[in-house]
Amino acid sequence: VLSEDALEKYEEAGRIASKVRERMRGIVKEGMRIIKICEEAEETIRRMGGKPAFPCNVSINEVAAHYTSPPGDEGTIPKGSIVKIDIGVHVDGYIADTAVTVCFNPEYEDMVQTSQVALETAVRVIRPGIFTSELGSKVQSVIESRGFKPISNLTGHQIGRYLIHAGKSLPNVSHISFRKIHEGEVYAIEPFVTTAKGEGRVIEGDEFYIFRFLKRRNLRLKDSKKLLRFIERNFRTLPFAERWLKDYGSTEMYRPAFMDLLKSKCLMAYPVFVEPSGEWVAQSEHTVYIDKDGAVVLT
Ligand code: MN
Ligand code: MN
Repeated sequence: VLSEDALEKYEEAGRIASKVRERMRGIVKEGMRIIKICEEAEETIRRMGGKPAFPCNVSINEVAAHYTSPPGDEGTIPKGSIVKIDIGVHVDGYIADTAVTVCFNPEYEDMVQTSQVALETAVRVIRPGIFTSELGSKVQSVIESRGFKPISNLTGHQIGRYLIHAGKSLPNVSHISFRKIHEGEVYAIEPFVTTAKGEGRVIEGDEFYIFRFLKRRNLRLKDSKKLLRFIERNFRTLPFAERWLKDYGSTEMYRPAFMDLLKSKCLMAYPVFVEPSGEWVAQSEHTVYIDKDGAVVLT
């Protein structure tokens, strides 16, 4: 069970994350530059006294997750799109993770609503002693009863200090598992929904915009060592965007070292996740704390 201090920090991270999510929900518009959205979300988190736990994800249409603007991104929000805004905040390593889908296309309102209803169902059902498989079945049946399909290989996840994916996963489909939810744990619950025509899974795209420290290794180049120290000190084991290296130096200056760190597997890259059918994907996400009676929504 969590200490009072840890719970307070989770609550503070949750308060900030939910305020930033609602603020972003209100300001995201068709034609807006994606990089403006990312920067606005991340600056608001800092202004409110938190730190981004990962770069603001802005994943559009068939891109399910893991897009954030690279430096100088010229991309804009397309007309008639659906946009998943995924926000992470930490206070002293205690993380809140939350997402909303903003819908600019009336044809997809029901699908977006379905991800929200599936999330609300999971929040109501999760409690100490429940199997993750029972939770997955409930989420799947809510989604399918409304004529949509869950994404089977994107899951909710337990959260640990400075760890966005810790321990147990929460699949959004029925599966075989004897793992149970326990009191004192913190989870991000996040149903992803696509249309009945979709494959109901995602594949890795060949682009990546989000990175994470993996391991210190013997590096030959002094520049690589120095950049790795900067990354470890500033982001620890949390995901970061290349944009966040601007305090370190110019792109030309850090690029060779950055590529060396990726190649030598001191850093890992998160590929974007895409519905292979091209069908669009909606997501809703909350972070919850499990107390003796069930979920306390932190976001
Ligand atoms: Mn998230
Ligand atoms: Mn998450």
